[in-house]
Amino acid sequence: MVFKMLQEFDLPARWTSLIQDYFSEAVHNLAQTWPDEQSLEVSYRIIEGFDTEFANDIVKNPDLHFHAANQALRQFLIDAGGAAMYPFVRIIHLPSDQVRTVSQLRADDIGQMLALDSVVTKISGVRPRIYSAVFECVACQHSMVINQPNEQELIEPIECEQITGGCGRAKRLTRFVLNHKESILINSQFIELQELPEQMKGGIQPERIVCIGEHDLAGKLNPGDRVKANGVLFIRSQRKGGKDTPVFDIFLRIQSLERQNIPLEEISITADEELEIKELARRPDIYKLFTNSIAPSIFGMDEIKGSLMLQLFGGVARLNEDGTRNRGDIHILLMGDPGVAKSQLLNYMSKLSPRGRFTSGQSASAAGLTAAAVQDPSADGRWTLEAGALVLADLGLAAID
Ligand SMILES: [Zn+2]
Repeated sequence: MVFKMLQEFDLPARWTSLIQDYFSEAVHNLAQTWPDEQSLEVSYRIIEGFDTEFANDIVKNPDLHFHAANQALRQFLIDAGGAAMYPFVRIIHLPSDQVRTVSQLRADDIGQMLALDSVVTKISGVRPRIYSAVFECVACQHSMVINQPNEQELIEPIECEQITGGCGRAKRLTRFVLNHKESILINSQFIELQELPEQMKGGIQPERIVCIGEHDLAGKLNPGDRVKANGVLFIRSQRKGGKDTPVFDIFLRIQSLERQNIPLEEISITADEELEIKELARRPDIYKLFTNSIAPSIFGMDEIKGSLMLQLFGGVARLNEDGTRNRGDIHILLMGDPGVAKSQLLNYMSKLSPRGRFTSGQSASAAGLTAAAVQDPSADGRWTLEAGALVLADLGLAAID
């Protein structure tokens, strides 16, 4: 116990020296780009190199570390001339023994920092949440700051704090009024993650988890995005008839995100790459070059590969004179004997294309491909429409096996 207390005491100092040693340039850049960028990404691998024991402790006691890390980073920014900033340290690249799929989550994982390999199935609207609340005592007008770690319940003061100059009256002898203007609000969003189709064993329903993304993480993801969500697992009692039950629901508070696919509109092509692309386009053997680049480990099948390549580029959408429109999308039906690499090719193509989606016939019904009506526990049991594979793959490639 004593050892643990010493460690807690030491955390801000450790984080300060870690940031100083490895991230001073990144902190400088953050100060320059504030408030467009509000967080500093710190790779776990670097922390491991800095101090293994310290790194292990992050996984076991993440909340203490996040607090200390954010405080340390805030001090650096203030020293660099910033005013009231609330920056976040976001830890990425967790070790592989902390990586889970949604269905692998167990009671032992609660409170630890974990990485979830998953795909976003649903997002809620972004709503403001009080992060740090300022309450005013009606009796003496003294105001107090109370941090609000829980998004479901507003924590009110128990008494008017005498230490900070209040009158000391207990809650029942006075009233506390929330001062919205002085309180700090942050953005908050519910994000539903589902395990990846390739992680599922045939026929089993994919498992999902509701996550909370806050601050600059809110509004960052879209349904269909593949992400590694790093965060802390926490529990809430399931409620039945207004009473808490001993069974709990699990949630993930997201601490950092690692995108596994880059959305089409966010792909940036550098001047060098543009030059390279234009040079490639002039090559007379460009068609053959592209065809051969598709699943090179699969031998032959030149015509199939050629068609798949053409499908990636798509046709031309035409607007006819009478106002009707011809779509330029190409559909391909692949038929063949079992074991001739059809699935392999499909899988490859869905990974190659941005917004590519791969579903297998076992886990998708015809209706489920376009949209499904589901009862949503995170929205008070209301029925909501959920996008299917075809919708999620819009402007990308949907591969149905
Ligand atoms: Zn008071």
